[in-house]
Amino acid sequence: MPIATVNPATGETLKTFAELGPEDVERRLATADAAFRHHRTTDFAERSRLLRHAAELLDDDRDDIARTMTTEMGKPLAAARAEAAKCAKAMRWYAGHAEALLADEVPPEAEARDAGASTARVHYRPLGVILAVMPWNFPLWQVVRFAAPALMAGNVGLLKHASNVPQTALYLEDLFLRAGFPEGCFQTLLIGSGAVEAVLRDPRVAAATLTGSEPAGRAVAAVAGDEVKKTVLELGGSDPYIVLPSADLARAVRTAVTARVQNNGQSCIAAKRFIVHTDVYDAFAERFTALMDGLTVGDPMDGSTDVGPLATERGRADLEELVDDALRRGATALCGGRRPPGHERGWYYEPTVLAGITPEMRVHREEAFGPVATLYRVDGVDEAIAVANDSPFGLSSNVWTRDEEEQRRFVRDMEAGGVFFNGMTASHPALPFGGVKRSGYGRELSGHGIREFCNVTTVWYG
Ligand code: NAP
Repeated sequence: MPIATVNPATGETLKTFAELGPEDVERRLATADAAFRHHRTTDFAERSRLLRHAAELLDDDRDDIARTMTTEMGKPLAAARAEAAKCAKAMRWYAGHAEALLADEVPPEAEARDAGASTARVHYRPLGVILAVMPWNFPLWQVVRFAAPALMAGNVGLLKHASNVPQTALYLEDLFLRAGFPEGCFQTLLIGSGAVEAVLRDPRVAAATLTGSEPAGRAVAAVAGDEVKKTVLELGGSDPYIVLPSADLARAVRTAVTARVQNNGQSCIAAKRFIVHTDVYDAFAERFTALMDGLTVGDPMDGSTDVGPLATERGRADLEELVDDALRRGATALCGGRRPPGHERGWYYEPTVLAGITPEMRVHREEAFGPVATLYRVDGVDEAIAVANDSPFGLSSNVWTRDEEEQRRFVRDMEAGGVFFNGMTASHPALPFGGVKRSGYGRELSGHGIREFCNVTTVWYG
């Protein structure tokens, strides 16, 4: 995949970039290594000052960087602005909380004595240079939710961003430099995925985090495993959205639409499989289909657009194959199921609702990364849980019920990294984010996220 900005709304290549050669990569690795030696010795007050400055700059740049993101990957402009604002908020959150999250732990004196010590402590020390392999779908947020805690913990970052968002990737390096972080604390490597292995094997790189597809995660984790380096993997998802009879149906339907089509349907935590109790299924299906069918598909720069184009031509082709496979095997398209008429240029796809899904259809097990919802009719809580868990993925889950007994069942039984009741899954700096099964391992955000790339050090005083 060439490193280039290609506007998904038109298919036009706007700018191409040369890939860094081995010598450039070597120089950047050396710079990162040197930066870590200094950055690890700085205190929280200094890191926090720099990160708050980055947040201020990002606020000032919001409109420009939002336009860049929309141009590179097609999300509606208002959503791009909201993403930039969310990143500044996360920076401020970590600037304010990191010191407390990484405070030394002091075990009770009696336990220290039992371990033969006069006293003992646990310190959270930084690991070193962390390689971040990131996707294009939230091109600022995915990076910032790694970078903010990593920099506050005293680590330094090397970003290998997706090849279709190079201008956003370069903006991030520039942002941290302008904020005052010393050269090398955060660098962008304009390299293709084939060059990742050599960087990851370099002894100066301590660990890696990858957000992206399952194949990419598997490839990076295999190399990291061979090198015995820690990884965090945030991979795909096919989150269930369960609606039971006690739900506020009007809210459940409205939220379902947002949960499915946010970011043009290209979100790992988008609700993708809608599992509805038979008592409310017909009403849900009718209202949900009407709202999905009524969405405005169009130019993501236009304020009236609900759903822009898919980010890449390949991504649209993959989605079309999934839908066509389901239709061939007997599914029904209640709406959509095709490219919207009148959009000859650009990689648009109509919001689609598929009913009559069976386990042999690919879309039952694979992630639909675009505005395509699948509907399932179930008889009760047991069947809802069984259908929800019948997926290789386990990122998050959404359940609409006001019954507390039912809520306890879902908390106990959902195979997912999150259970969101009467609302849709969203990330927040204070709450851990991540999945189980093929959705990956490790957590981002909150105290759990910042401690992933720390050397948890036992200090024992005799
Ligand atoms: P992708 O194709 O896996 O790309 C993600 C990143 O991995 C890109 O930087 C890509 O570089 C790189 N990459 C791909 N193959 C690689 C390999 N063999 N070795 C090393 N690096 C490799 O995913 P995407 O299409 O950008 O993003 C969509 C996927 O990400 C979806 O499955 C989505 O669910 C998942 N996602 C997960 C989360 C989460 O938090 N769990 C969040 C967002 C997205 P190139 O661009 O150069 O190929």
